[in-house]
Amino acid sequence: MVAERLTRQGLDVVIVDREHPGHGSTAASTSMLLWEIDRPLVELAAIYGFERAVCAYRASLAAVTGLLSLVRSTNVSSEIRAKRSLYLATGSSTAELRDEHRLRSRAGLPGDFLDHGQLLEIFGMARAAAIVSSGAADADPLQLAHSLLRLAVARGARSFDAEAIAFDPAGAAVTVGFDNDREIAARAVVLATGYAMPDIVHSRVQAVSSSWAIATAPQPRFRNRWRR
Ligand SMILES: Cc1cc2nc3c(=O)[nH]c(=O)nc-3n(C[C@H](O)[C@H](O)[C@H](O)COP(=O)(O)OP(=O)(O)OC[C@H]3O[C@@H](n4cnc5c(N)ncnc54)[C@H](O)[C@@H]3O)c2cc1C
Repeated sequence: MVAERLTRQGLDVVIVDREHPGHGSTAASTSMLLWEIDRPLVELAAIYGFERAVCAYRASLAAVTGLLSLVRSTNVSSEIRAKRSLYLATGSSTAELRDEHRLRSRAGLPGDFLDHGQLLEIFGMARAAAIVSSGAADADPLQLAHSLLRLAVARGARSFDAEAIAFDPAGAAVTVGFDNDREIAARAVVLATGYAMPDIVHSRVQAVSSSWAIATAPQPRFRNRWRR
């Protein structure tokens, strides 16, 4: 996905993977492209305030919508299907889920509240309540990754099989050294290493606090990199 995005911007891209691409955590994925963040909006809003929490939820929804339209518009040989998601109440009370639905509605996020009877009738599930939402998707993760990789390579990206064993961001260019004694100097390096944070990278701008998402304070040099 990263290589597709960067080649779309016309950048000179080199992809390096020590395994066959996609055979890391991508191959293990259960294929669900959900925009609902693991933390309910109510909880996130209590921590960060309504506006920032909604921003995270909207960004997540836009990511799935963007992936759907990318696959459809670029005609890559990968199937992606729009799906609904069902967010189930965990206990016997419906109050928490009603609050969640109310807040999502206020944020303009999609979703309908289903009470016990509606949930049982439509989905055959006996829970107190649920929120059914549009905007999710599923796709074969390996097929999708390979299709996007082929697209990036067709646009000029070069793909190499090697392990990065040295990393030096101190100069004007970032230098990465490999186990085959080769070295690459680049203006920017994107670490798309799945759940593995290479121990050669010692960063002062970010720290891993969750394997789910990594965020830094805005980096002025890259302000426009991921904008559409
Ligand atoms: C069991 C499971 C289920 C999941 N289910 C879902 C789901 O339903 N929906 C969802 O959205 N996400 C899911 N995920 C998460 C999702 O699979 C990952 O977030 C995603 O695949 C990460 O893609 P990636 O390309 O960054 O990493 P990967 O596919 O792991 O690729 C990273 C590559 O970098 C290589 N690498 C690492 N270090 C170096 C180095 N020093 N030099 C060279 N190469 C290196 C690795 O060997 C690997 O091949 C799931 C993950 C797991 C494990």
